[in-house]
Amino acid sequence: MSPLLDPSLSELGIEHGFGLRGDPEPARLERPRQVHGIAVHRVVSRGDAAGVEADAIVCDLAGVAVGVVTADCVPVLLVGESGLVAAAHAGWRGLCAGVVEAAAKAIRGPVLAAAIGPHVGACCYEVDAPVLDAVAARFGRELPAGALRPGQDGHAWLDLGSLVAAELERAGIGPAAVSRVVAPCTACDPERFHSYRRDGPRSGRLIHFVRRPEGGLAGRA
Ligand SMILES: [Zn+2]
Repeated sequence: MSPLLDPSLSELGIEHGFGLRGDPEPARLERPRQVHGIAVHRVVSRGDAAGVEADAIVCDLAGVAVGVVTADCVPVLLVGESGLVAAAHAGWRGLCAGVVEAAAKAIRGPVLAAAIGPHVGACCYEVDAPVLDAVAARFGRELPAGALRPGQDGHAWLDLGSLVAAELERAGIGPAAVSRVVAPCTACDPERFHSYRRDGPRSGRLIHFVRRPEGGLAGRA
């Protein structure tokens, strides 16, 4: 299968992809060891991300790709006007601690495009008090409409994607620069996606990447 593409990143001439089951790891990919935190690793020499604990990665090297892996969490790919690119991995823990905002800020200057990849949908993502507490602490009254649908016994169904969109807005990225790849829930589509919720700890991981262009951005000086 070919990775899913985001139209706005494609329009900018940025090589990228949201990986599906069985997709190979792209060439010259740098990715950190993910720990559900908020650290951003900046790649300044080849191979320097190996073993580094971080959940976002930004690339200073032309022609080099940065990426994250997921199984239900939200992958986010970012492109800055400077040509800098970044990838972030956002589950509820990292998201509520600020990893998306941290990734956006690691792009120096304006972010031209932010793409939110396939992730577990609210249909399959029932959460309990520790998650709801973290969401309330991070968003309070600014919780996006529809992000939470009440469930039973103090549980709720959570739409992580809308929280990521709210985090991008918090980082100063306007809605026009944000897109959500149209894809069903990762847990609902076993043909295309790995899912931790569905398959448990033995689940595989999807690989997502964005490559910093060799020259400038398409159509820009
Ligand atoms: Zn689902």
